[in-house]
Amino acid sequence: MAEQTTLSIIKPNAVAKNAIGAICNRFEQAGLRIVAARMLHMSLEQASAFYAEHQGKPFFDELVGFMTSGPVLVMVLEGEDAIAKNRELMGATNPAKAEPGTIRADFADSFTENAVHGSDAPETAEREIGFFFPDGICPRTQ
Ligand code: GDP
Ligand code: MG
Repeated sequence: MAEQTTLSIIKPNAVAKNAIGAICNRFEQAGLRIVAARMLHMSLEQASAFYAEHQGKPFFDELVGFMTSGPVLVMVLEGEDAIAKNRELMGATNPAKAEPGTIRADFADSFTENAVHGSDAPETAEREIGFFFPDGICPRTQ
């Protein structure tokens, strides 16, 4: 297994329920390192561009409405097999089908409000990390 980086987002419902620490703890306990982090409140344009692959799907408007409803924590996680490891910690997209003990099983409020985002492949991770961290991961300040 190779070292990878992946993009994680703690979504507005999980931020609102004060679960940032609990969720980040799961990443760290599983050996994933948080190597970049930004808290932001997305615009409709930004959320629509981030989820462009889902444009036209029946849940799209609800998804971007939710993702722009409050602040999110966007992070880059690094570690061995980080993309799959993060997806495993997250659990299934539909929280009703998420394994007990996964982040979505414990912190989701609905299919849309499912607590976390994680990149699903190396190409997606590269695009998503560039989307939120255009200046690179943890750049040195002057
Ligand atoms: P993910 O990679 O597991 O986040 O899932 P997708 O990339 O397929 O979908 C992106 C996000 O859209 C999901 O995390 C959910 O918040 C939402 N979503 C996906 N499919 C559905 C659906 O069938 N119904 C609803 N309500 N939301 C969905
Ligand atoms: Mg996805």
